[in-house]
Amino acid sequence: MDLDELLNNDSFTKEEIIFLLSLKKEEEINKLFQRADEVRQKYCGNEVHLRGIIEISNYCEQNCIYCGLRFDNHFIKRYRMSPDEIVKTAKTITNEGIFTVVLQSGEDSYFDSEIISYIIYQIKQNTDVAITLSLGERNFDEYKKWKIAGADRYLLKHETANPRLYEAYHFKQELSERLEHLEFLKSLGYQIGSGNLIGLPMQTIEDIADDILLCQKFDLDMAAFGPFIPSPHTPYHKKKGADVLLTLKTMAVARLVLKNVHIPSTTALATLDKNGRKKGLQCGANVVMPDFTPFPYREHFQIYANRKCMLDDPKVCSSCLQFQIESIGRKISKSKGDSLKQNAILS
Ligand code: SF4
Repeated sequence: MDLDELLNNDSFTKEEIIFLLSLKKEEEINKLFQRADEVRQKYCGNEVHLRGIIEISNYCEQNCIYCGLRFDNHFIKRYRMSPDEIVKTAKTITNEGIFTVVLQSGEDSYFDSEIISYIIYQIKQNTDVAITLSLGERNFDEYKKWKIAGADRYLLKHETANPRLYEAYHFKQELSERLEHLEFLKSLGYQIGSGNLIGLPMQTIEDIADDILLCQKFDLDMAAFGPFIPSPHTPYHKKKGADVLLTLKTMAVARLVLKNVHIPSTTALATLDKNGRKKGLQCGANVVMPDFTPFPYREHFQIYANRKCMLDDPKVCSSCLQFQIESIGRKISKSKGDSLKQNAILS
C-alpha cells in the first residue's frame, strides 16, 4: 500500500487499519502521527477539553480480570464519597474553569437511581456544567432517571470488540449485552463514549482494528483508547503492560477513521510514559481528564498500579496540565466540550 495516498483517504477498510497499526519504520510512524494531528486540527481545532473526574466509589460488583477494583480483590480499602462531598468537589472543578464533571465508580448498586439523581440535580442547581456518568452497566430504568435528572453523557467502554475475549476478561458478561446498553443510552439522547484497552493478553492487531471499527459503527461522541497496565492482586498482575507506541498508533489511526470525535489522552498513558499526555495530544487526542477525587479517597481508586499524579493535589495537577498543554501550542477550552457531532448538526 502507498502510505502517503492511504493517509489522505476519507474512509478505511479493516485491512488498511491493520496496515497503519502495523507500521514499524520511524519515518512512517511519524507521518501517521502528523496526519492524525492535522485531522484533529481540522475537526476539533486547537482547544483541549478538560473533564474533571470524581471517583465517587471504588466498590464494584463485577470481577473484570484486569481491574484492581474487581469484587474479589480484598486488598484494597473500599470507600464511598457522600453526596455532599461529591457536590462540593464538583464546585471545586468549576472553580478551576473546567465545565465537565465526570462521576466515576465501579458497578456499585449502593448508588441507586435516587442517590445519583439527587447528586446530578444538586450539581446542576449549583453549577453550569455538563455531567458525564461512568458508573458501569446499570439497569435501563436507572439510565432513564439519570437522563431526566440532567445527566448529559455516559461513558461505557466496550474494552474489546472480540466476543470471545470479552467473555474471557469479564466472566459472566457478554459483549452483546454491553452493546445493547450503549444502543439504549444513545436512544435516550446521552452523548456516548466507549473504547478499548490496548495490550490486554491474547489481543491481536486485528482485534484493535475491530475496536476502532466498532467505535465507528456506534458513531460515538467520545472514544477512549487506554493502555492496559497490570494491577496487583488480579489474575493478570504478572502480565506485560501495553506498548506505548502501539497505544499512540491506535489513537492516531482512530482519529483518521473517526474524525469528529473526542479522544482523550489518558492518565494511564501518562503513567507509562512521563511525556505520555503530550504525546497523546500530538497523535490525535483533544481531551484530558484530570482527577479531582479528594484525599483520602483518591489513592484507593486503584484500577491499575502507580497511577500518575495519584498523590498530587488536584489544583497542582491543573496548573501542570495547563503548562503541558500550552507548551505544545494548544489552549484549554472554556466550553463544556459537547459532542462535535451535535455541534455539526446545530451549525
Ligand atoms: S472494569 Fe469497571 S466493572 Fe470491571 S471490575 Fe473494574 S470497576 Fe468493576
